[in-house]
Amino acid sequence: MSRTRCFLPPYLLTTLAQTRPEVAARWAHTLAEDHRLRAARGTGAVSGPRAGAATGTAAATGPAWVVHTAGGRTVLPGDVVRSAGDPETGDLAVDEAATGVAASLALFEEVYGRRSYDDRGATVSVSVHYGTDYVNAFWDGTQLVFGDGDGEVFDRFTKPVDVLAHELTHAVTEHTAGLVYQGQSGALNESVSDVFAACLKQRLLGQSPAEADWLVGAGLFLPGVDARGLRDMAAPGTAYDDPALGRDPQPAHLRDYVETTDDNGGVHLNSGIPNRAFHLAAVALGGSSWERAGRVWYTALTGGDLGPRVDFAGFAAATVAAAERLDGVRPGPVEQAWAEVGVTPDGAGPASPAPAPPR
Ligand SMILES: [Zn+2]
Repeated sequence: MSRTRCFLPPYLLTTLAQTRPEVAARWAHTLAEDHRLRAARGTGAVSGPRAGAATGTAAATGPAWVVHTAGGRTVLPGDVVRSAGDPETGDLAVDEAATGVAASLALFEEVYGRRSYDDRGATVSVSVHYGTDYVNAFWDGTQLVFGDGDGEVFDRFTKPVDVLAHELTHAVTEHTAGLVYQGQSGALNESVSDVFAACLKQRLLGQSPAEADWLVGAGLFLPGVDARGLRDMAAPGTAYDDPALGRDPQPAHLRDYVETTDDNGGVHLNSGIPNRAFHLAAVALGGSSWERAGRVWYTALTGGDLGPRVDFAGFAAATVAAAERLDGVRPGPVEQAWAEVGVTPDGAGPASPAPAPPR
C-alpha cells in the first residue's frame, strides 16, 4: 500500500473539478501527480535524489530539520535552502515550513518526550514550492512536501501551521501504532493527525480548549471561498458550504458513519467522529489540550496496545485505559466524550466489523 498521505481528500478536488473547471484545468498537474504518487510509492517505483538526512539511519547526528525548494519542479527533495539554526530566508513558504516543523518537533519533544517522528532524532526533510499550482501537501513515507496553491481557491499549503503538524503526525503514526489507512483504522489515522495539529495550533496560540476554534486548515482557502477551514473538529460537517466546494461532508456521530469505497473507505470523512470525541474530551478535561487530552491520545497511540486495524471502539478503550494510568486526568470524561459520538469503548484489539449504515 502506498505510504503517501495527502492533506486534501480526493473527493474535494473531484467536486472542484466539476464546479470550477476553469480553475481545475490548472490542477492537471496536481491530479496527475497525486495519482502517480499513490500508485508508485507502494512499489518503490518512484525514486530520485534523496537527502541522506531524510532517512532514519543518517539522522542522529544531522540537523533537526532541513527545508528544500523543489523550485516548481517535482524532483524531490530539491535544493537545501534552510536548516535548523539558520536565519530566515525571506521566502515565505520556506520560512513558514521552518517555523511549523520546529514547533511541531518541539510539541512532541517538550510535551511527550519524543525525539522526532521516529523517536531516534531523525532529521525531518521538508520540500516547498513543489510543482506548479500544486494544491496539496503530503508525507510520502520519507519527507513532507508542500505545494504553493493555485492563487484562486487555495493559498500556500505552508500557510496554516496545522497542515504541517498534520502531515508530520502521519510520520509519527507510521512509526508507532501503524494504523492501516483503510476504514475505521484509517479514519483514526487521519483523526490522530488532526488531533496533534490542533494541539500544536493551540499551544502556539496559548489557547485553552474552550477558546480554540478547532478548525483544521483555517487560512488555506483564499477569500471568495465560503469556508472557515477544511475540517471543524468541534462541529464536523460545518467547516464549509460553498457553491464550488459543496458542503463539508464529515459525520459527527457514529450513526452517520459513511460506508464508501472512495478515499480508502472514507478516511477523511469518518475522522470527524473521533475528532469530535477528542474535542469533547479536551474541553471536559480542561487545562490545555496538549497536556491533558493530547497526552491521553499520545499514550494510546504509542503505548503498543493498538492493533494496526483497531476500530473506533478499540481505540476509545485505549484512551480510557491511558486516562486511568496518567496523573492529572480522569477516565470518566474520556469515556463520556466517546459516548457522545456513539462509540462504546471495548477491549482494544483487532477491528470488529464496521457498523452497518443506519439508513
Ligand atoms: Zn492526513
